Amino acid sequence: MLNASDSNNLIVFNGIGKTYPHEHTSALHDISFSVEKGTLTCFIGPSGSGKSTVLKLIAGLEKPTIGSIQAPPPKNISMVFQSGALFPWLTAVDNVALVLQVRDARLSKTIARKKAQEFLALVRLQEYAEKYPADLSGGQRQRVGIARALAVTPDVLLLDEPFSALDPKTTAELHDDLLRLWKQTGTTILAVSHLIEEAVALASSIILIKEGTIAQRYTLHIPYPRREQETAFIQEVHHIRRDFFA
Ligand code: ADP
Ligand code: MG
Repeated sequence: MLNASDSNNLIVFNGIGKTYPHEHTSALHDISFSVEKGTLTCFIGPSGSGKSTVLKLIAGLEKPTIGSIQAPPPKNISMVFQSGALFPWLTAVDNVALVLQVRDARLSKTIARKKAQEFLALVRLQEYAEKYPADLSGGQRQRVGIARALAVTPDVLLLDEPFSALDPKTTAELHDDLLRLWKQTGTTILAVSHLIEEAVALASSIILIKEGTIAQRYTLHIPYPRREQETAFIQEVHHIRRDFFA
């Protein structure tokens, strides 16, 4: 059995199965894996294979039907969604300040806003602090979402296809941002992607999920920053693509 106390493992899934109520087929079956503290893991796989369900189980938003999960308590886990999911009636800085005040009710609005500014600076958005979500680009909104998720200094950051609605140039910039934040904060990151190239650009470990179970797991040793035209990058993508479409 995998065990969180054995090593540096922060998250451990042991024989996880998940069937949603009123569904005949299971969303997940026989899922076992562990994630070490401080790593960046990407889940890839076809649409409907169960990637989001894995993140929801880690976040405590869903319960497994069978098996056991070891993970930090939900309050120490932050999730970033595809759309950024910001409050449209709050400015960028107030979107971040709000979660700080929800976390610690004693925090004054002034201090919360000051701390929020620091997290916006981490994602290079200090100039946009007083803008409303409607006045930000898709990439900027997603960076506010990431700043907000990091503001509560989580043990685990979960990202569910966070860049899928963005253009390629913005996506590349956000990849660089995410890798920089990962290095700066040491946060354990788990991200879902349906793009093999994205996973190879980011991850220290990739888990391929097909039809609700783990088809393959890869450990990547390509040094950062990774460039798509490098031979090692291309070879890794080819290797994973073979399994993805097998
Ligand atoms: P992915 O993120 O890889 O696209 P999901 O984890 O969202 O896949 O879904 C896996 C399977 O579980 C799919 O067949 C999907 O229809 C089903 N599913 C996901 N969420 C629910 C739900 N809330 N109720 C019923 N079925 C669901
Ligand atoms: Mg999904």
